[in-house]
Amino acid sequence: MNKRLVLGTLLLTAVLAGCATGDGGLPDVRVGAGAPLPVGAQDPAPSASAAPGAAQNCDPRASLRPPASLPAANGMPSGGTLAAIQARGKLIAGVDQNSYRFGFRDPLTGELSGFDIDIAKQVAKAIFGDENKIQYKTVTSATRIDAVRNGEVDLVVETMTMNCERWQQVSFSSEYFTAGQRVLVHRGSGITGMDGLAGKKVCAAAGSTSIRNIAAHAARPVPVAVAGWTDCLVMLQQGQVEAVSTDDSILAGLAAQDPNTEVVGDAFTVEPYGIAIRKENADLVRFVNGVLENVRTDGTWTRLYRTWLTALSTDTPTPPPAKYQD
Ligand code: GLU
Repeated sequence: MNKRLVLGTLLLTAVLAGCATGDGGLPDVRVGAGAPLPVGAQDPAPSASAAPGAAQNCDPRASLRPPASLPAANGMPSGGTLAAIQARGKLIAGVDQNSYRFGFRDPLTGELSGFDIDIAKQVAKAIFGDENKIQYKTVTSATRIDAVRNGEVDLVVETMTMNCERWQQVSFSSEYFTAGQRVLVHRGSGITGMDGLAGKKVCAAAGSTSIRNIAAHAARPVPVAVAGWTDCLVMLQQGQVEAVSTDDSILAGLAAQDPNTEVVGDAFTVEPYGIAIRKENADLVRFVNGVLENVRTDGTWTRLYRTWLTALSTDTPTPPPAKYQD
């Protein structure tokens, strides 16, 4: 047995031991509602944090047009954001470490890995000719906008939905992935979507569009907010919530970590993902969009999809087209 298989088996065994629900003849050892809550869990979520934001009139997908050609690596134009990053010697990227397949810590390597991490690496490669000239700072759905605005990070690549309310606070790159919100439940629960969750606790990350969409759903589920997506999985396993609801992309990663759970129902929102960048740094937005143009057209996007996301779809994946406001 090779090392990867051994570790994978150990991890799977640990998962099954912690949360088996009887599927496949395993004993149900769910911990029950008496178990401690994950740090920072809010049950129910405070209504202010889950309230729908003011509707803004904008095209959330429209970003800034990239230059006709990108500067060569290590030749960033002087005086701007890119020259400052080049002088620093590394790109600082805000990422998730709790989204399996998008941004997660690989237990085999100890490295942050996933589709979002590899997209961030493409930007570092374009600036430095070296995808490893990058420093990651882990952020959550609730902390990432401040991290961008304070300049703690140059950009955030974290399953982040482009919407008009967020455009008021940060700029976004062009869309690099499209998700939609669905529901994760215990396998065999009989729940087939949000409509079956009236009055039931449904978990999502604080600061996400998901927690708001739960609060706003006509079925009137009870939103429960946590810091990260794996906290939601733990609460589901411990019987503290009935379901998790967020992007299908993230739910697929949770379901892969616990085979006793399943994603149900159709997507009921559209969540276009963009890279968040400080509003003042329009030069970086345009540069990143140039990088994403190449990622879309030179086969990189398809390669990254195949590496990380094949489990999401059996269709031949195509990157979302870029839209520009100017
Ligand atoms: N895409 C949603 C959002 O941006 C949920 C995932 C996340 O929070 O990263 O709020």
